[in-house]
Amino acid sequence: MVDFALSDTERDIRDWVRNFVQRELMPLEQEVLRRERAGEAGLTTTELTGLQQKAKQAGFWGVQTPEEYGGMGLSAVMTALIEVELGRTFVPFRFGGYADNILYHANEEQKQRYLLPTISGERKSCFAITEPGAGSDAKNIRTTARKDGDEWVINGEKTFITGGIDADFAMVFAVTDKEKGAAGGVTCFLVDRDMGWKSEPIEIMGERERQPAALVFDGVRVPDANILGEQGKGFALAMQWIGRGRYLLPARALGNCERLLEMGMDYARSRETFGEPIAERQAVQWMIADSAVEIEALRWLVLQAAWQVDQGMDSRHAQSIAKLYGGVRANEIVDRVMQIHGGMGYTRELPVERWYRDLRLLRIFEGTDEIQRRTIARNLLKGHASVSGVLG
Ligand SMILES: Cc1cc2nc3c(=O)[nH]c(=O)nc-3n(C[C@H](O)[C@H](O)[C@H](O)COP(=O)(O)OP(=O)(O)OC[C@H]3O[C@@H](n4cnc5c(N)ncnc54)[C@H](O)[C@@H]3O)c2cc1C
Repeated sequence: MVDFALSDTERDIRDWVRNFVQRELMPLEQEVLRRERAGEAGLTTTELTGLQQKAKQAGFWGVQTPEEYGGMGLSAVMTALIEVELGRTFVPFRFGGYADNILYHANEEQKQRYLLPTISGERKSCFAITEPGAGSDAKNIRTTARKDGDEWVINGEKTFITGGIDADFAMVFAVTDKEKGAAGGVTCFLVDRDMGWKSEPIEIMGERERQPAALVFDGVRVPDANILGEQGKGFALAMQWIGRGRYLLPARALGNCERLLEMGMDYARSRETFGEPIAERQAVQWMIADSAVEIEALRWLVLQAAWQVDQGMDSRHAQSIAKLYGGVRANEIVDRVMQIHGGMGYTRELPVERWYRDLRLLRIFEGTDEIQRRTIARNLLKGHASVSGVLG
């Protein structure tokens, strides 16, 4: 049986988030744009925390955090539906109560110091694998950790680390056995900022909440007790972090595209040239139609990938497809919507150019387009996936 309908609960949750976005976030959009134009963050930490607390009062806290940790423990499909709704605004909001999936591998003592304070929002984490010489080719990292008594000494540089500017601790991947490399020789360490690493912001095309940092580890000493998971098993943890929800990135982009297309249609109806609204022109109608088709296709790729996660299936192929298609198509759609707006689309009066810059990142981080294509083709050629898809 194939059933595309939402359950009553799914609809209720989706509608609650939709209302929250309309009532609490969209009214902030003009102020967020104004601040971003002035080079400031769209929301202050106090404002973000205030909004998160408001949502928490209604039970929206830790969307995917297990219930035993005070979260909602929602399914992947439900989380994707929520991301779509949040994507309908550019106000940089996320629900509170979240911690990186790999922090659940912490032992009891580490959970008290890292996992629980991250969920509560007292501490901020960052995930650090990329290096100046190793991005797509993450197995090629050069940062080392050398054992010295019951401590490890970390040396190396990480780059493009989201949240690295203000994180209290980093999950750092370092080579502990050069011979074994990624196959048993990479270890993940929980490294507090006050253990001595330094961060330097990196200027980027996107807005402040995206701004990553370079991290420098110059003889940083970390106790043996700060190994996350097992020594030598760090690369698998890194892949687990990256694969934690690849469907969520295109889910948010889907929300962006829905809103953008609505903006494009509104503008097309009201903007007249040569005595007629541009919405009457076939050239504009085709941009609207193509965008609508792609949005619809993306919706089902995202939900199907999320559904596979909920079924406990190996969803990596479906997630790569959703991420690749979402990145490429969302960039095409925002470009069309800018085109429909003419000169206005290029100004900073409207959020179109902001989304244009922001969406470009989707084709680069957490696996570039080319790396997704490589994964998809390899899965097919090796027989791990079928061109008939999940229905076989
Ligand atoms: C804003 C931002 C935030 C980020 N946040 C984080 C973070 O929090 N933590 C973290 O660890 N990293 C983070 N990254 C790093 C990000 O994951 C990498 O930039 C990404 O994986 C690409 O690596 P690279 O930049 O080294 O490009 P490269 O790997 O050098 O790739 C350069 C180009 O070559 C292509 N290419 C590479 N290999 C192949 C191949 N085998 N076949 C075909 N084409 C190939 C790529 O697709 C790309 O087009 C972030 C990056 C950005 C820009």
